[in-house]
Amino acid sequence: MSLAISKVPTPVNEPVRNYAPGSPERASLKTTLAELSGVQTEMPLVIDGKDVRTGKLGQSVMPHRHAHVLGEFHQGGANEVQSAIEAALRAQKHWAALPWEARASVFLKAADLLAGPYRDLLNAATMLGQSKTCHQAEIDSACELIDFFRFNVAFYEQVLREQPQSSPGMWNRLEHRPLEGFVFAVSPFNFTSIAGNLPTAPALCGNTVLWKPASTSVYSAHFLMQLFKEAGLPDGVINLVTGSGADVGNPVLANKHLAGVHFTGSTKVFHQMWRTVGDNIDVYRSYPRLVGETGGKDFIVAHASADPVALTTAIVRGAFEYQGQKCSAASRVYVPSNLWPQVRDGLVEQVESIRMGDVADFSNFMGAVIDASSFSTQKAAIDEAKSASDAEILVGGTCDDSEGWFVRPTIIVTSNPAYRTLRDELFGPVLTLHVYDESKWLETLDIVDSTSPYALTGAIFAQDRYAIEQGMERLRNAAGNFYINDKPTGAVVGQQPFGGGRASGTNDKAGAAVNLLRWTSPRSIKETLVPPTDYRYPFMG
Ligand code: NAD
Repeated sequence: MSLAISKVPTPVNEPVRNYAPGSPERASLKTTLAELSGVQTEMPLVIDGKDVRTGKLGQSVMPHRHAHVLGEFHQGGANEVQSAIEAALRAQKHWAALPWEARASVFLKAADLLAGPYRDLLNAATMLGQSKTCHQAEIDSACELIDFFRFNVAFYEQVLREQPQSSPGMWNRLEHRPLEGFVFAVSPFNFTSIAGNLPTAPALCGNTVLWKPASTSVYSAHFLMQLFKEAGLPDGVINLVTGSGADVGNPVLANKHLAGVHFTGSTKVFHQMWRTVGDNIDVYRSYPRLVGETGGKDFIVAHASADPVALTTAIVRGAFEYQGQKCSAASRVYVPSNLWPQVRDGLVEQVESIRMGDVADFSNFMGAVIDASSFSTQKAAIDEAKSASDAEILVGGTCDDSEGWFVRPTIIVTSNPAYRTLRDELFGPVLTLHVYDESKWLETLDIVDSTSPYALTGAIFAQDRYAIEQGMERLRNAAGNFYINDKPTGAVVGQQPFGGGRASGTNDKAGAAVNLLRWTSPRSIKETLVPPTDYRYPFMG
């Protein structure tokens, strides 16, 4: 029972630590990196708060040194899915019945634990297991996830305050119920913050969850479960079931109590899940909510009036930070002919200077791509460009998987605006660039809009205000997150709610009140204060 109309703390974005030489945060992070590198961690499933070991093991390795095994994780299937769903349904009765402030407190505590004692652990796990530099880990596994926890609590209060009007003689209310059943959260490898947000956003709203992380990020997921437990999350509210997509996904999607899917990952997998849900539609008790943030082919398009130096910096940072494995990473660029000589020289010089290697060496700007499969996707695109008649490699173009899955940051320049890698997502450090005739600005905007099926992020560079407005208009539906004179990456919770349309997802904006609305099923309540006592209306007299 809550005897107050509570107001949650006003959230502010978590400050990013800089890990400069001599700083205390650098020293303590290095200590944690060494500790984690010196042990092997066993990672069980967690169902109803208990560790579950199946003996069917997968390995977590360092992508930049794939012979180094960080630990082994247990993989589940239909039996574990069944136990996890039962645990989630049992837990929901108590969890949903808690005052909302009690649920909010758990996530506010998780935020403070992550900002403090868990920061190094989650950053180090993300660096080692997902090959992020310390800066990339800090803005992901620390700051963004802390922001998700704190801002979602404030957005949830906002959702609960959303109430209808009442005419005289009645009181209307809206009750924001959790969904009936459980939510299936499925997270990608590339962001620990997304992995943390997908199960917790529905849980905050009173739902209980079966969470399946990507096999290449089980290592950080394992430590997130420890964080949730220490924050006071009751048993059974979030159940971690690791394993292959199909082994876990198929029995979950066939369960009658499936109430929602909170997915981030590739378009192909989301299509498959949506199809399976469609096939099972007669099985479900309610229509499952399907929320999916999916692939991208994010663009930067520059006008003839753009600042070439700012443009060059945006391309390098936007395309190659975290090895181009951000869903928002720039992967196709359109440069006007008048700027090309200066931009070309700047790109070659800067990209050649990029240091790549072990992320525990803080002088590196890039680590390795996530696994052998991504490595071969990047290598195939590079080899294809090398032999194409309408494309060439401007810079980069080498790969080496002997120690880690390393792909040099690569720029393919093509004369063909329909070239394959201007359309298909590669999800790695391979950027495709097209130089257009500077007089063809409007035609180029139409090409940007129509080349790829995705519409996640995009950026326009121009000094000319008319050109900016033309880009805003013509590219209205080409990106859910649109940037003017900035790189298309680096969305901040509470500032640029994130998500895209078309083949990039359902655009339910992670870290925003609209996302939380998907995890509630409102009940309208009308109470008549003095009910009528005669069925006849006055007009009948
Ligand atoms: P992925 O699609 O390969 O995997 C995502 C998750 O789906 C993993 O947990 C995987 O195990 C699971 N999965 C696979 N098959 C399944 C099935 N049949 N049933 C249930 N689950 C299944 O994606 P990834 O390689 O981990 O991540 C990269 C992709 O994610 C890229 O396409 C990227 O653009 C996208 N992404 C999008 C956003 C966004 O906000 N739009 C953010 C991050 C990543």
